Formats: sequence, C-alpha cells, structure tokens
Amino acid sequence: MVDVAVVGLGPAGRALASRLVARGASVLAVDPRPEAVWTPTYGVWAEDLGSPPEGVIRSLVRRPQIRAHGHHVLPRRYAVLDNAALQRALPLDGVQVRTGRLTDEEVVALRREAEVVVDARGARPAGRDAGDPAPAQTAYGVVVPAAEAAPALDGAEGLIMDWRRDWAPAGSGTGRGPATFLYGIPLGDGTVLLEETCLAAAPGLPIEELRTRLRRRLLARGMAASAVDDPITREVVRIPMRGRGRTPPGGVLAVGTAGRGGNIVTGYSVTHSLLSADALAARIVQGRAPRQVDPVAPSDALREAGLRALLRLDVQGTLDLFDAFGRLPGDRQRAFWSRETGAGGMAASMWGMFTRMPPRSQLELARATLGR
Ligand SMILES: Cc1cc2nc3c(=O)[nH]c(=O)nc-3n(C[C@H](O)[C@H](O)[C@H](O)COP(=O)(O)OP(=O)(O)OC[C@H]3O[C@@H](n4cnc5c(N)ncnc54)[C@H](O)[C@@H]3O)c2cc1C
Repeated sequence: MVDVAVVGLGPAGRALASRLVARGASVLAVDPRPEAVWTPTYGVWAEDLGSPPEGVIRSLVRRPQIRAHGHHVLPRRYAVLDNAALQRALPLDGVQVRTGRLTDEEVVALRREAEVVVDARGARPAGRDAGDPAPAQTAYGVVVPAAEAAPALDGAEGLIMDWRRDWAPAGSGTGRGPATFLYGIPLGDGTVLLEETCLAAAPGLPIEELRTRLRRRLLARGMAASAVDDPITREVVRIPMRGRGRTPPGGVLAVGTAGRGGNIVTGYSVTHSLLSADALAARIVQGRAPRQVDPVAPSDALREAGLRALLRLDVQGTLDLFDAFGRLPGDRQRAFWSRETGAGGMAASMWGMFTRMPPRSQLELARATLGR
C-alpha cells in the first residue's frame, strides 16, 4: 500500500504529487506520458502566483490591455509560464511513477493499492468526443516573429482580449455568431502568440471558424499572409468550461479540471491548482482528506450566471460587457478573474460591470443571465 495514488500528471496532479511527497507521503503516480513537457501556453496573473521559483516565468507583460470600444490598460502583470521549468519546480523525486492510461474502473481499483486515490486525468480522460455539447472555450493561434506580429498588437505590449470586430467580413455589420477576441502575448523569445479565442460557446466554436476569423483579422491589420499561413507553430485550445462536469468515480477525489478546479468563467485552472496543492497535501497527510476537493460554494451560482451570459450575449452585448470590465477598478477586475474569490467579491465585480453597460446591453445581460 502507498498513502496516495495520483492519476494524471498535468498541472493539478503533478503539483499535488510533488507536495505530497515533500510532506513525507508515499505516492504512486500514473500518466500515459509521465516525462512529457506540457504543451499548452499557460498564462497566469503574475501577482496571483506570489514568488514563483526562478525561471518559471517565461515572459512578463507589464501593461496588458483589453480593447473593446476603448483601450484599457490593466493594472496587473500577466505572465506566460515556462512549462519545463515549472515541472522542474514540482519535482517527483521519491514518487513511484507508472506509465499507463486508466479507465474509471482502473482508477477505482487503485483503492486496493492506496489509502487515498486522486483523479487528476483532466476534463476528458477518455479522449475528446467530436459531438461534445458542453460549453467550451476554443481557440486557434499562430506563433510568429515579433516583427511580423507588430501590426496585430497595434502598439500594445500584450493583448489579453481584443474584442474589436475586424474578425468579421467587411460589410457584415456587427458580425454573426459568437463574438471572439484576439489574444496576443509575447512569449519571451522574440515570438508572439496570436490566438483567436471564443471565450465560451455550447458546443465550442469550431476551430476552422476561428482559423478563418484569425486570418481575416490579422490580414486586415496589415500582417503578411505568409506569416499567418506559415507560422513557427500553431496552437489549438479546447477547454470544457465545467471541467469533467460529473462526479468522480466512487471513493476517489478529483482535482483540477477532472474535478471542480477550473474557473468556469475564464476556463483557467493552473493558478488554482498551484495555489491549492500544498494545503490539500497537508490535509491528506494529516489523515483529514476532504470528501470533495473544491466543494460547491455560493460564488458558483454567480459564476454559472456569468457563464450563461457569455453563452447567450450577442456580439454587441459581449463588447459592452468587456468594455465595462475594462473600466472596473483593478481590484474588481482581479476579483472577477480569480477562482479564489467568494460570493461577495464576485457580486461586487459583476454589479460593477452591469452598471457600466449601456441600457440596451443591460437588458440583454439580464435576459441572458436570468432567462431559461
Ligand atoms: C492549448 C491550451 C491552452 C491553455 N491555456 C491556459 C492558460 O493560459 N491558463 C490556464 O489556467 N489554463 C489554460 N488552459 C486550460 C488547461 O487545460 C487547464 O488549465 C490545465 O491543463 C488543466 O490541468 P489539469 O492538470 O487539471 O489537467 P490536464 O492538463 O488535462 O492534465 C491531465 C493529465 O492526465 C493525463 N491523463 C489523461 N487521461 C488519462 C487517463 N485515462 N489515465 C491516466 N492519465 C491520464 C494526461 O496525460 C495529463 O497529463 C489551456 C488549455 C489548453 C488546451
């Protein structure tokens, strides 16, 4: 018997396994590719991470912007993580590592080998279902040399969300379908990731549509077609907004996107996984493992309302919403974005956005949020 089995070595599983072994637990970890370096470009708000170990931050954007009707410089720094360095900062020395891809039944069966079993297999451990109806964030991005990306960034050091509508065909008014935004972030090595993102749609907006929108947008800004069509690399993003969206197999704890660790309004989960791993490890080591990790909280209802709004608002309403977000005080912006914020903080931020929207979009927002 070992103390804990952790299945899945993404950010959530690796952070927990590493903290458990550091606290003296015997740990078994299972992953199909335990040595692999994570491939997604993970971004986080730098201040949320506290003082990360040397080298973990690959790129820092000091004055990130949101653009909708106006330009809003956010009073926070945005960081892109160096995944290899982060993995080194979460060592697995002493962890018994097994290579394997486990079914639900096999995860449950680990209870014969471990006192506590943790499912950290992410949102879709059986692979992606092409017809998945769940709300998802999808994005398609290209990595290009900074000089090529300059017209797209349009003077900004980094774009967290550029909601302007140059993704839409000329003459199509506000544009059809869900609004999408350009995420444009320097990666710290002379390259920039330019990603067309649909924050949430059910089902997720197809990647092909995002690719078309990105190309149209970047060419409209004056980028060379060759840079867009023949980038250094490409990135495809699919994030089920509600994570796994069902309870973990019997008697098993779920962390990260296998459980309820994701922020259902932003799709992000990495910061929460990193911040919460040590406290969870401490509880498990002390024999006080919770019945559920990230249990349901009052703030969830507000985030659900926020997700409903994102899924239903039209293009104009979405732009008005994020323009209002850009005009919130910094602490309200931070509260809205953080997975750690409670109901009071969420309510204050959401009310702040509502009061800054024009009446037509306030009505839309109320309908989107409160309607059936
Ligand atoms: C391209 C992309 C960019 C993203 N950018 C951000 C970002 O900037 N910031 C952010 O916070 N989030 C971002 N996300 C969301 C991201 O998915 C999650 O935040 C994060 O990866 C979730 O971590 P996790 O450990 O819960 O799950 P995962 O990262 O999905 O890790 C799951 C692990 O379990 C393993 N596994 C899967 N199935 C099995 C199985 N059957 N048996 C055993 N092991 C299994 C996998 O190999 C993997 O190692 C991004 C996602 C993508 C795809």
